[in-house]
Amino acid sequence: DAAKPSNFLRQIIEHDLDKGTYASRRWAGSPGDAAHHAQGEPDPAKIRTRFPPEPNGYLHIGHAKSICINFGLARDYGGICHLRFDDTNPEKEDTEYVNSIIDAVKWLGFDWNGSAGAAPYQASDYFDFMYRAAEYLIEAGHAYVDEQSAEDMRANRGDFGKPGIDSPYRSRPPAENLMRFREMRDGQHADGAMVLRAKIDMASPNINLRDPAIYRIRRATHHHTGDQWCIYPMYTFAHPIEDALEQITHSICTLEFEDQRPFYDWLLQRLIEGGLLASPPPHQYEFARLNLTYVVTSKRKLAQLVNEHKVSGWDDPRMPTIVGLRRRGYTPQALQLFAERIGVTKSDSWIDYSTLEGCLRETLELTAHRGMAVLNPVKLVLTNWDEVFAAGYLEPCQLPALPHPPEGVESPTRHFTIGKEVWIEREDFEEVPPKGYKRLFPGNKVRLKGGYVIECTGCTKDANGQITEVLATVVGDTKSGTPGADSVKVKAAITWVGVADGVSAEVRMYDRLFLDAQPDAGGKDFLQCLNPNSLKVVTAIVEPSLANAQPDDKFQFERHGYFVADRIDHQAGKPVFNLAVGLKDSWGK
Ligand code: ATP
Ligand code: MG
Ligand code: MG
Repeated sequence: DAAKPSNFLRQIIEHDLDKGTYASRRWAGSPGDAAHHAQGEPDPAKIRTRFPPEPNGYLHIGHAKSICINFGLARDYGGICHLRFDDTNPEKEDTEYVNSIIDAVKWLGFDWNGSAGAAPYQASDYFDFMYRAAEYLIEAGHAYVDEQSAEDMRANRGDFGKPGIDSPYRSRPPAENLMRFREMRDGQHADGAMVLRAKIDMASPNINLRDPAIYRIRRATHHHTGDQWCIYPMYTFAHPIEDALEQITHSICTLEFEDQRPFYDWLLQRLIEGGLLASPPPHQYEFARLNLTYVVTSKRKLAQLVNEHKVSGWDDPRMPTIVGLRRRGYTPQALQLFAERIGVTKSDSWIDYSTLEGCLRETLELTAHRGMAVLNPVKLVLTNWDEVFAAGYLEPCQLPALPHPPEGVESPTRHFTIGKEVWIEREDFEEVPPKGYKRLFPGNKVRLKGGYVIECTGCTKDANGQITEVLATVVGDTKSGTPGADSVKVKAAITWVGVADGVSAEVRMYDRLFLDAQPDAGGKDFLQCLNPNSLKVVTAIVEPSLANAQPDDKFQFERHGYFVADRIDHQAGKPVFNLAVGLKDSWGK
């Protein structure tokens, strides 16, 4: 798609497609190899990317960036993006997370593995192959079983500027390593008693190349393979193999994996030499992770917010999780627009939260139906209503649901009524108007939007001086949309809802979850930065069209902002709305 702004990943892909980098990719193994089961024959015409979450939590806005990049590139270049669960760490993983990730990717608008409804890949499907790859490395002299204690191993790894010290087990012959490794697999050694390490270079300036561990003993039940294995591959070993087996071409990850790339390349080269993998192998590219102000994007910290009940759950509308954003009223279009707008770079930076909100506003502006809602209601009584019309009379009114419908779309019409009593916002009446105030004060005329011009005559108060009712008279023959509408000029039109047909609704007014723009930067305790006023629940009165909302319907409450009917709690007869985003950027204040 030439219309899209270029970035370093697009340039690399265009180069590879142009040069046919992967056109010559061939399997080296025999046709019966496990290597073939993932994708069948190589497809040189296509790029393959992947999104490889670990199913140990709910996805967040940073993952949404990664999803949009990987699936977006595959879509734009006619390729395929794989959804793969990187499930090599059994203790922390769970099918609850697997399902939530599947939902999130689907909701964002993407199909994986080249066909709608395909099953996602799982790293655990490759455990047999990985085991075989490990045995090959041992036989070829590229791996050994190390029985040093964890402390010794760490100490002997050395440090920056200080070479490591060879393990006493490093020069053990392959046959002995193989025997030990099989004992590990067969459950003859305790957890942590020994590990399999790649044999690379204990003096490498890149610590990741100082004989990294590639298999460990862990008696843990895996959510997919159960108790079949008591040894599990390390992530750094498993990941390149997963990519290669699935014939990934461009393995795109965040910058913190840059130092792992040499091992990624080393491992795949060894396995190609051994005839286990096709050549050329996939290549890893790194981009800057998303850092968004006023949120934390670490699964561990998000889990802490949930577990310590700082929020109502993973899908609390204040959470930067995909389920939270969705419940807040975010749309897939808004998140895709956001990912495009922030782009892909190779250097870390912070994105302002207002950029995300701007994307939501932009996508809702043209599509969200308008409606009137009074968030802080006071009753307005039209004292001459019965004389101008008749006691109990209700006049039907209407307004378009979409004032600026997209081309080719006809706006639906909202229907509501006006009668003697209506709800207005408390802030729309001032007994003594401040300078420049154009709304209701004694002697002033305003229009009730979509209804009549009225003239304020005063108010009534209770014993505490609190205003209980605003009083006004209706000016007959001024109804919006009739020839008399312009007969009286007014300086303001205010929103309102009829007492007769207005419906009470719970409205959840959300604010930023953290008061600090970088709640977890520089050693700060992010829990100390929580905004104590991030949720205020009010009872509002909404017009009938809003009360008829379906869960997840989005609206613009005129003058207040964009709101969504809560996916979980909203019901017919008991409306619940969440503030998605205000009409204007308020983050600068
Ligand atoms: P966390 O640090 O929140 O636990 P993770 O990186 O461990 O996240 P994974 O499930 O391993 O979570 O991530 C899947 C993919 O999403 C990886 O390719 C990772 O690089 C990417 N990713 C995670 N966080 C971000 C982020 N903030 N910005 C962009 N991509 C991200
Ligand atoms: Mg991870
Ligand atoms: Mg992480």
